[in-house]
Amino acid sequence: MGRYLVNLTFDLEEFDIPEEYGQKVSERDQMEVTLAGMKRILPVLDKHNVAVTFFTTGHFAQKNPELIRLLSDKHEIASHALYHAPNHDFQEQDILVSKQILEFITGKFVNGFRMPRLRPFDEANLAKWGFRYDSSVNPTYLPGRYNLLHKSPLPYHESGMWELPCSTMPWLRFPLFWLSFKNLPAGIYSEMCRLTLRKRKSLMLYFHPWEFADIGDYKLPGYVKSPDGQALTDKLDKLISYLIKHKGEFITCQQLCDTLDADKEKI
Ligand SMILES: [Zn+2]
Repeated sequence: MGRYLVNLTFDLEEFDIPEEYGQKVSERDQMEVTLAGMKRILPVLDKHNVAVTFFTTGHFAQKNPELIRLLSDKHEIASHALYHAPNHDFQEQDILVSKQILEFITGKFVNGFRMPRLRPFDEANLAKWGFRYDSSVNPTYLPGRYNLLHKSPLPYHESGMWELPCSTMPWLRFPLFWLSFKNLPAGIYSEMCRLTLRKRKSLMLYFHPWEFADIGDYKLPGYVKSPDGQALTDKLDKLISYLIKHKGEFITCQQLCDTLDADKEKI
């Protein structure tokens, strides 16, 4: 297709990750931390004039409807289920409810879904509920979490929907996800992204707004919380500049689906 398409995506969710490490965070603080991160990210996205996809929980959207409406003018709002909390009793129906909440708030059709923590779930209902794509697969091996090396690293059509996997490097399947971005030197990570983009023609990156807030005081392992705040924001700024310089074209996930559909019709 001669284009190099970049999906920059953010899981816009409650800051509940300290609960995985035994630290309780009040609901107010969960929202405040995420909002503080958004205040850092949005000027960077505006500066580069890039459109991104926010996978948003229904709960976060209900607490921050004005922000979600505003974001939907320029960016894509997709679903990240209803609640994010690790101890929340997930029901399949939550996915549909979150879609309805987001559509009510934005007045726009919600096309995409990503499962919190990329946990396995029954995808059978997604197409029936009107989703056009899912982006819950990280086709790599993460010890203790999942082994999805048998999954395609490229977007594929299945059960009436597009699956848009998180990017992994060609050959090694090294994941280019948020922890790699945070922990690798900027030059190395950017170069891995560039090589992947050149080979695969599309790149799916995912981060969380709370990573860009100042979270150094929370009881999280260093590799989860550092760097944070402005330092990580500067790193993101540089990554976007680098990818633009190397012909990266930033589009939303539903725009990627448009391109994939058009290519499919040509075959
Ligand atoms: Zn999430």
